[in-house]
Amino acid sequence: MLKRRALLLAGLPLSAQASAYAGPLFDAHLHYNDDAQQPHPPADVLARMARAGVHGALVNSRPNDGTLRLVAEGGAQWVPFIRLYRNRADYSGWFADDSIRRMVLAHLAEGSPAGPFRGLGEFHLYDSANADGPTAVALMKLARERGLTVLAHVDAAAVDRLLAHAPGASMIWAHTGIAGEPVARVRELFAKHAGLRGELSYRPGLTQDRRLTPEWRALLEGHAQRFLIGSDTWVTPRWQHYEALFAEYRHWLGQLPTELAQRIAWGNAAELFGLKAARPSPQ
Ligand SMILES: [Zn+2]
Repeated sequence: MLKRRALLLAGLPLSAQASAYAGPLFDAHLHYNDDAQQPHPPADVLARMARAGVHGALVNSRPNDGTLRLVAEGGAQWVPFIRLYRNRADYSGWFADDSIRRMVLAHLAEGSPAGPFRGLGEFHLYDSANADGPTAVALMKLARERGLTVLAHVDAAAVDRLLAHAPGASMIWAHTGIAGEPVARVRELFAKHAGLRGELSYRPGLTQDRRLTPEWRALLEGHAQRFLIGSDTWVTPRWQHYEALFAEYRHWLGQLPTELAQRIAWGNAAELFGLKAARPSPQ
């Protein structure tokens, strides 16, 4: 009753009280790392995804055999990416290590049980200057030549540098800047790089008290075709929260016009990866 009164006082019709987005979801940032596979075999992972209403995913893992295992079970809407890391040591040196480039070429030649690999990453750069490392440059050019998307966990300066090596390449910016780059900087990068999209896990400033902040609502509404959502299951305990993570996404997606929510939740990924329409969401 208090809530109803507050809405009326705010001059908002009761219909403005948002309900959660109920349509299909695509997880654009899924890791299935070696340490997750014993506690969460593919059947467990796929059951969690089904309960969350996730109908497809961008899948990568350290090392890459986890991806092969999961996409073999998941099917055509589980989109395989090549992780650049065989082990934790590769995180800090991949950008200047030619054996990583050769590993990527071998995986591309072999493909996966769900068809060709569609992208590279997630990769990290802890210093944006390393975006100019020889392997980073070679892989960006390779991505553009082969029509691959890269999933990059980097700062705004590195987004700019990486895309300068391969203008027009397709990039998903993991977290859309986890350091909390200003919204104005995100807008600037979107304007400059047509192939750039933002993924929204862990994004600082996106919501406050479970409501979209005004500046993020405006950005999402103005650039709905540029955003994706993901789980970022980077450590095993994230799998226990998988359904709750997407319930949170559904909550704020419900605060957007339905058509825009559907784009961010599913449509943009479907377009990027050529996915078929999602099955009706289990309700
Ligand atoms: Zn990640």
